[in-house]
Amino acid sequence: MGRFERLAKLEAKLLRRRDHLRAALQDDLETLTRMSPVGGDLADVALEIGYEDVISQLADSESRELRSIEEAISRLRSGTYGDCQGCGKPIPLARLEVIPDATLCVKCQRLVESSGCRDWSQYQQRAYDRAGRD
Ligand SMILES: [Zn+2]
Repeated sequence: MGRFERLAKLEAKLLRRRDHLRAALQDDLETLTRMSPVGGDLADVALEIGYEDVISQLADSESRELRSIEEAISRLRSGTYGDCQGCGKPIPLARLEVIPDATLCVKCQRLVESSGCRDWSQYQQRAYDRAGRD
């Protein structure tokens, strides 16, 4: 399979994931709106409150992933998809096929992880701050 076909497959995968996440988020929001702490006995209320936390955390992580997937789709359309945000080199397709919304190659990802940073921009900021102090 050529690069073009592999990218087309990746795009289809990203679109499927996006639709899935959108539907899941919609469900979560509906569940959250339906749930109300009024009515039922106290035990039910406590249970619902715990459940509400779980759902809203789930919705949080789903919307973060959705954002990342949507960014990947727009990179695909603008032709910058698969470029490593760190070193600018192309991320191998094999990696993208596992993590379609990856923005870093394995090398740069390891740099970020081993420094305990959240992402590349935080890593860069820290490196910048360090340079400023020396
Ligand atoms: Zn890189």
